Amino acid sequence: MWYLQSIMIDYHLHGNFSGHGSGELFEYVEAALAKGFVEIGFSDHLPKVVDPDPYHAMLEDALPRYVETVLSLRERYRGRVAIKLGIEADYFAGHEDATRALLAKYPFDYVLGALHYLGDWHFTSKQGLARYADEDPAAAFPLYFEQLVRMIDSGLFDVLAHPDALRRGAFRPVASLEAEYRSVARLLAGRGMAIEVNTGGVRRGCGGPYPDREFLAACVAEGVPVTLGSDAHSPRDVGRDYDAAYRLLGDLGVAEVAVYERRGRSTRPLALRLDKA
Ligand SMILES: [Zn+2]
Ligand SMILES: [Zn+2]
Repeated sequence: MWYLQSIMIDYHLHGNFSGHGSGELFEYVEAALAKGFVEIGFSDHLPKVVDPDPYHAMLEDALPRYVETVLSLRERYRGRVAIKLGIEADYFAGHEDATRALLAKYPFDYVLGALHYLGDWHFTSKQGLARYADEDPAAAFPLYFEQLVRMIDSGLFDVLAHPDALRRGAFRPVASLEAEYRSVARLLAGRGMAIEVNTGGVRRGCGGPYPDREFLAACVAEGVPVTLGSDAHSPRDVGRDYDAAYRLLGDLGVAEVAVYERRGRSTRPLALRLDKA
């Protein structure tokens, strides 16, 4: 008798180091253990190199304590769940050197690269939600993909986080983005970056995980590796809506996930056939 054992990783966990997250980091670990995760990674927000503010991202003086906390949890839970030291970094065009210098100070296992801003529109924030009604998707999506290209090209990041988080409710591309998807996929492959399947999209009303299925399919076709994350900002959201992610990955024939150590990548099977005892 054989059964399938899922290799569950959650590489996108936040916590109370940033003002908009809640829960001590150990509570996320306990939640992950309860759900059977074998490997998790914290990826709270890197201090912003532009307009720092403690609500959206921890301030720079909190970063050493974040790193120490994750590393001590890694020791405390060794043998029960693997804990990686990750970080989610904003991309601010023109501030690449400051971002690189900050990232180089700590022994991160991986760096998620994320866009949360389009010009002065912080579209992932609570205040940013109100602006969706006034924005034009015909202009916003091409601009978003332009920024994405610059971000990937910067070489600062290992994984593209919540790849098309601009989608929300009815705010969707009005024209095909097939060409954009393909060029981003090629760029990711060229840069050796992975793409994240982020189940936060389900909670945020996107009708499924990020990215859009067509976008992910373009990445898979280019051989771009995939990581998985829930974008949990509270312990109860660890590993949430993973059924949707597994369905999407299964449909696209993805059988492996990427994992990281000291910014080096390896792959693990998404599911293992184990002998039933
Ligand atoms: Zn956040
Ligand atoms: Zn994010």
